Amino acid sequence: MSFDDGPSNPEIDRAILETLRKHAAHGIWFINCRNLDPGMHPRYRENRQVLQEILRQGHQIGNHGYNHLNLVELEKRDPDKLRAEIVDCNSLLRELTGKAPELFRPPWGQYSPGVTQILQEQHMKNTLWGITSIDTGTNTSSAMADTLDRYWDAMRPEDGDIILFHDSAATMARLDRLLTRFDSEGYTYVLPD
Ligand SMILES: [Zn+2]
Repeated sequence: MSFDDGPSNPEIDRAILETLRKHAAHGIWFINCRNLDPGMHPRYRENRQVLQEILRQGHQIGNHGYNHLNLVELEKRDPDKLRAEIVDCNSLLRELTGKAPELFRPPWGQYSPGVTQILQEQHMKNTLWGITSIDTGTNTSSAMADTLDRYWDAMRPEDGDIILFHDSAATMARLDRLLTRFDSEGYTYVLPD
């Protein structure tokens, strides 16, 4: 399992963490560092507390870019900025957690040769996903909720699949039901080595 774009909403993040704790499930949290930056996020202090809670609960931290930019576009336009997107977020995460992350997930899964090169230099592994949870929409109609419920009820991960979630209200609302089914179907949750 993986949770992208956080920690950006302490109420949602803590509810997701509580559900994961209940099911003894662990995942990778791919962090956007702007959420932890005093100049960029009004709730950066709480987001930093949530980051520590994520670690205390035994989850893994990955880098998801400082500002969630399209890195393919950025490489064409401003290669120095591309490097900063990855390296500056590593630095901040090292400062806050004592350890540089080893995993990177490019925003929207879009990467280019320049990204691959920086990841090699930084000794990081590019980590995409196997199944998406379509949990990021802002459409909160009951028709959309039904669509999401049906989609989530049909999710059948294969061995080793990483599911892509976000710290979204849709995931907060459905994760307990999903993990209850996964538990009953005998799934286990593993982190990469
Ligand atoms: Zn993302």
